[in-house]
Formats: sequence, structure tokens, C-alpha cells
Amino acid sequence: MKNTSSNDVRQLTTVAHLMTTERRWNAPLIWRCFQEQEAKLIMATHIPSDCVQDTYQWEYTKNGKYTFKSGYWHIQSKTNAPPLGTDKFWANMWRSSLLPRWKHFVWKLIHRALPTKTNLCKRGIDIEVTCPFCKGQTETDLHIFRLCPTAQMVWRASPLGIVSESQAMVPMQTWLRNFLNLFFNQDGKDDSRAVQLTATLWAIWLHRNDIIFRGVSVNPNRILEVAQSHVHSWKEAQEAKLMQQQHLNWKQPGEINLTKISMWKVGKCSNLGFFSILVDAAWYRKKNSKQKQWEAAVAWAEDDNQTISCSGAKRIFPQDALQAECYAILEGIRVASGLARNVILKTDCKVAVEAIRNENQAHSHIATIISDIRKEATMLDFFVCLKVSRNAVVKAHNRAQQERKGLGL
Ligand SMILES: [Zn+2]
Repeated sequence: MKNTSSNDVRQLTTVAHLMTTERRWNAPLIWRCFQEQEAKLIMATHIPSDCVQDTYQWEYTKNGKYTFKSGYWHIQSKTNAPPLGTDKFWANMWRSSLLPRWKHFVWKLIHRALPTKTNLCKRGIDIEVTCPFCKGQTETDLHIFRLCPTAQMVWRASPLGIVSESQAMVPMQTWLRNFLNLFFNQDGKDDSRAVQLTATLWAIWLHRNDIIFRGVSVNPNRILEVAQSHVHSWKEAQEAKLMQQQHLNWKQPGEINLTKISMWKVGKCSNLGFFSILVDAAWYRKKNSKQKQWEAAVAWAEDDNQTISCSGAKRIFPQDALQAECYAILEGIRVASGLARNVILKTDCKVAVEAIRNENQAHSHIATIISDIRKEATMLDFFVCLKVSRNAVVKAHNRAQQERKGLGL
């Protein structure tokens, strides 16, 4: 904008002020108020047909939303500092599945930009600098996150079992980088340890703020609880993402509402093999049979895009269709559990899935099968039984039909 004190400029508070009453750009006004480049950009901007609220846009990302990474790039490019991408640590960091606010937090901590009391003092803010946890030492990064007795207690009790006060000479920044580097390098795509470490630091910081700003009392257990709940939410989010992206072949992931899908889930995704299996049952009642029996078969087959194939079938003598479908699930989970620790099993039988979910309400003729399915499932790291369309299990369906007719391979 031109550096002018004219009334035109001072009256500009919304984008609408730059438009005429016919919703066109007010060219003379724009030329008066802006530098040539800016004016051209404005005039080239499309005016939507509907009135929309003004919003701020960040010009360094495609969607106009600010991301910490793009902000960092922008600052780097302004200051001629070495580009971020040359540093493997930060490359790993941005690529990781850590939440954006954790990445931001780690970045601040490593760049000594966290507003600890000592950092504030260095910036000329006159405050007392005592650690809010022990009320004895000075609050530095190194002290609150590692050396303070509260921090030590938290690290010892955390799943990482870190002895945070050892190598007290190592600066906080180096310590954190070393640990994260170690986890990124050793764990590949599995970020659980990096997440655990970051969530613990984050929880220490939140608790510190709670003490200072909200007057809560020091409680190391609270820090551990908060850290674990953050880790837990992260894991849940990862699972949902994994299921959507790799194994469910949903056509429009954006429209998926997990709560509306009929499924039963147990365990937590581990980084040990994932397998997706289809099951189905085929059956009909023998018309002339005196015994009320169904001639039936169950079958299973690997889902699309699986590297292992596991197709198979078995004749069974169930009492009804539902029982046959339950047998199919049981056979499927047994086959899959020999192949992977994380299993997604797809069936087209909603009643069976609902029966597994509400074990106590299952009809007696399937109750024991349901109970076996649940037992097999809990022995896996992660199991999902998912209701899908008939088309989605057609491979298993065809196999079951063949087996029932005695045409099995
Ligand atoms: Zn302390």
C-alpha cells in the first residue's frame, strides 16, 4: 500500500471498500492506494459471485493457510540462512507424523525461543526466575525439562524410562536433537518413541504453565497422564489414517464417518505386518432333507493389494445363515492371525459384526463362535471386523459358492 495519509487509504478496512456497488474492482481507487505491483494483483483477482467474509491469506502455501513449515521457510529465505532441507534432522522432523503444534514446540525449544523465565529475562523482561516445580533453582530449559526433580521423576516413570539428569553437561537442545535423531533413525516410519518424547516434554510445559498461570499445584502424575493421553490420541489418529489410506480402499475418504460404519475393533496398531482379509459364507437349505440342516461353505481370500495370498474354503453344517457368516469370520481370523499381527477382516454380514460388538446380546447358537472370534482377536496386536458391501467380498463369495457345490479347487 502506498505510504500516504489520504482519506482514501484510511477508510479502507475491508476488501468491499475496494469494489464498486456493481461488485467490480474500483480501479481508480486501487491505483491511488496501491503500488503498481499490488494494484495489478488485486485487479487480477476474481470476485466471487456470492458475498463472503474477508479472511487473511498466507501467500506461501497453496491453500492460503499458514503452516509452521512455510513460515520457517519464509523467514529462512528472508535471512539468507542455510535452507532447512539441508538439515536431515529437520527434514525428518517435518516428514514425521508428530502433530504440527509439537513440531512447533520442538522447533522453539531447540532454537531457545520458548518463553521460559530465563529466556524472558534475556530479552529484558524483569521477572523472578525461580522454577515453578521445585521453587529452588532457576528456570532454564535444561532445568525444567531435565534436571528438576519433578522432570526426573516424570522421565523415569514414562514408557521411555529416560534418566534425564545423566550427562547434565549436554545442553537441552543437543539432548533433544540426539534423542529424536536416534528415534527417527532407528524406528523408520514408526514415530511412537519420538511422539512419546515430545508429548512428555509438551506435558511438562503445559503443567508448568498451569502452575504459573492457573495456580494449580505441582503433580508429576498429572504430567504423565497428560502425556499419555496425548500419545493415545495420536495413536488413534494414526490408526484411522492407516485404515483409510491403505486397507479399506474407500473411494472418498473425505466423506467417511467412522462412527457410522458397522465395525468392531480391538488393540492398537503395531508396526508389525498388516493384513486385510475377506470372508463370506454360501449356503442353501436342502429341500428334501428331513434334518433341518443347511449345506454350506465358508471361504476367505486376501483383499486387493495384499502381497500374501491366502485363499481357502471349508464345508460346514450350520443351523442358519447367520451362524455360517460367523463361522466364516472365525475361520478368516484364524487364517489371518498366522500371517500378520494387525488384521482387518471384511464381511458383508452386518448382523454378525453387531453380534461381535455386543457379545452379551448374541443369540445362543452363535454365542460360542462370537466368543472364540473375540478371543482370537485379542491375541492380535490390532483387529478390525468391518461390515462392507457384498461386492467388496465377491472374491470370498465365489470361493465359498464353489466349495459348497463341491467344485472347490
Ligand atoms: Zn525445579
